[in-house]
Amino acid sequence: METNETHKVSDRALAGKLVEEIDRLTRPLGRKVRYMEVCGTHTVSIFRAGLRQLLPPQIELVSGPGCPVCVTPDSYMDKAIAYAKELDTIIATFGDMLKVPGSESSLSEAMAAGADIRVVYSPLDSLKIAKENPNKTVIFLAVGFETTAPTAAAAVIAAKRAGLKNLFMLSAQKLIPPAMKLLLDDERTNVDGFLLPGHVAVVTGSDAFLFLARDYHKPGVVAGFEAVEILRAIYRLAQMTTAGEARVENEYDKVVSREGNGAAQRAMYDVYEAVDTPWRGLGDIPASGLRMRDEWQSFDIERVRPIEVNVKPNKAKSLCRCGEVLKGQIVPQECPLFAKACVPEHAIGPCMVSVEGVCAAHYKYGGGKFKYGA
Ligand code: SF4
Repeated sequence: METNETHKVSDRALAGKLVEEIDRLTRPLGRKVRYMEVCGTHTVSIFRAGLRQLLPPQIELVSGPGCPVCVTPDSYMDKAIAYAKELDTIIATFGDMLKVPGSESSLSEAMAAGADIRVVYSPLDSLKIAKENPNKTVIFLAVGFETTAPTAAAAVIAAKRAGLKNLFMLSAQKLIPPAMKLLLDDERTNVDGFLLPGHVAVVTGSDAFLFLARDYHKPGVVAGFEAVEILRAIYRLAQMTTAGEARVENEYDKVVSREGNGAAQRAMYDVYEAVDTPWRGLGDIPASGLRMRDEWQSFDIERVRPIEVNVKPNKAKSLCRCGEVLKGQIVPQECPLFAKACVPEHAIGPCMVSVEGVCAAHYKYGGGKFKYGA
């Protein structure tokens, strides 16, 4: 039986071989080869493993829009803060939402001022809070992609079964494929292929990304999160780039199937339907958001108790270049606020808040790169 140490040594040897092969395949192209990692977890894994430094110089890894906190707009945060300030309300949220700046303040500031805001690890935790606090309105901040939306849907279904009348969702859940289409329709997006998000693909299946090859002639490979899994996916991309081919392949088939998780998809689309929605930095994207269907609207706080917010323009935030960062058009170091006015402790934009944010990853691990193409 292999020991962990043997594993590490063999992984290191395999990683070295893969890097050599990627170099051998792409060096003759005589140009930069750009692959976008769509998912924030990949961004962090790539930094942690030092893959940018390990890969040959012609390979450029570009970060994309797959950090849910980073793409949640000001108006959503302002609404969450406004609900939090209401006396009878408990906000249940993932911890990385606390410091996301709204147009004027954040949930952590509302919490310091006395709002009842509780950090949860799953939407299902908000059920327990609602049961324990029958006289309070409990609002779960449903922010995430296909990865978390089925669990939010499961919480709503369970609340209905339990006859709970005090649990609601404030939904800003989003779908990844429409955002990728938006990027590809933008002529400034210059990528040779995509490292596809493993966690999202567990739910959607790898076939959800077939449009890349069919409609845009771009290859995509679903990847796991270990360094060797990411390198293997980049190797597959490099093979296709060199051959001028475009397919969608699955290098994470231990957990991702072509069709995805049918039960999770059914729960998600039983409760939600796709609608146009705004992404911070990217604008409105058709059919990219999840809104509760009419038959579930009694769990939708915006329809049960609508709230108006006035998003205030903010001079410092107007300089934030998260939109271009999330489209892979600039690296965070090109933002004038990076590591100066904007640091994780005092983030101006959301890409610096989340641990999966591109700016936060560059700040923490350093990119060694101050301009794409350099
Ligand atoms: Fe926005 Fe801060 Fe990133 Fe600049 S460094 S793009 S202000 S999050």
